[in-house]
Amino acid sequence: MNQGLVLALDIGGTNARGEVLDARLGAPLVRADLPTPERDGEATIATIASLCRLLLAGLSDVDRSRVCAVGLAVPGIIEGPTGVVRLASNLGWADEPVAARLSALLGLDVVLHHDVTAAGVAEHRLGAGAGASDLLAVFIGTGMAALVVAGGEVVSGGLHQAGEIGHIPVQQGGRPCPCGQTGCLEMYASARAIGRAYGALTGDPDATSLDVVTALGSDPRADSVWAEAMDWLAHGLLGPITLLSPARVVLGGGLSASGAVLVDALRSRLDVLSHVAAVPEIVTASLGQRAGVLGSGLATFDAIERRQLV
Ligand SMILES: [Zn+2]
Repeated sequence: MNQGLVLALDIGGTNARGEVLDARLGAPLVRADLPTPERDGEATIATIASLCRLLLAGLSDVDRSRVCAVGLAVPGIIEGPTGVVRLASNLGWADEPVAARLSALLGLDVVLHHDVTAAGVAEHRLGAGAGASDLLAVFIGTGMAALVVAGGEVVSGGLHQAGEIGHIPVQQGGRPCPCGQTGCLEMYASARAIGRAYGALTGDPDATSLDVVTALGSDPRADSVWAEAMDWLAHGLLGPITLLSPARVVLGGGLSASGAVLVDALRSRLDVLSHVAAVPEIVTASLGQRAGVLGSGLATFDAIERRQLV
């Protein structure tokens, strides 16, 4: 087992989380968080460097000398092999050589990961997906994205963009999506879409999917918004399930906090909709908000193992 340590980071739109992990991926040696600057690419680079220095400062001299790399999970379109972020609009990056810039600042190798891929890898290896060699891990929050595992291997795709399940069109000529397409699944069934649909009925612009789940059974408007969103979600997931035949679907992200309410609603609809594909086991993710950091650490130790790092 690798004796080194990794600075594992997960950069969200609101918070940048960091942990120092060894290859066993148990409790962190040090943990720190910093707020993420708002859509300011230069400030985000500086914040990540500060977070790394905070983590290093928490280590003994001996442990500091064991740190061999930084793993960085970010939302957006990334090129893992080159370390370039093609687009991360919430972080203010476009065609930014993030890994090279941070590596120059820190004197450490920096490995980039897509945040959903990282969280999915963690759920697959350490969480609710453990033991399933064919898995679909779907993260539903502001947007929606998935990790596909087939035959025990993560499917990243020949063009490295597999898993963008939220942008699979489910309605021809449907709602416009910020990605430029219309009718994308996440415009109907993401946590944000559910909150917006409820807000449109109640007049509350700050309504969330949690408000909908809380009001189920007592507010008919919540019941109808939820039922419609779950119809879209089942409709949108049936395609990937039919194509891939996963043994298990893991539901993560903010919407998965609704637990059995979500799992039961989705399963019952898939049971009705599906006449070809067997309906897989459906469970909620188990690692919570730590999944991104753990996956960032896991994928970075994997990269070291594959000798992608010198
Ligand atoms: Zn889209």
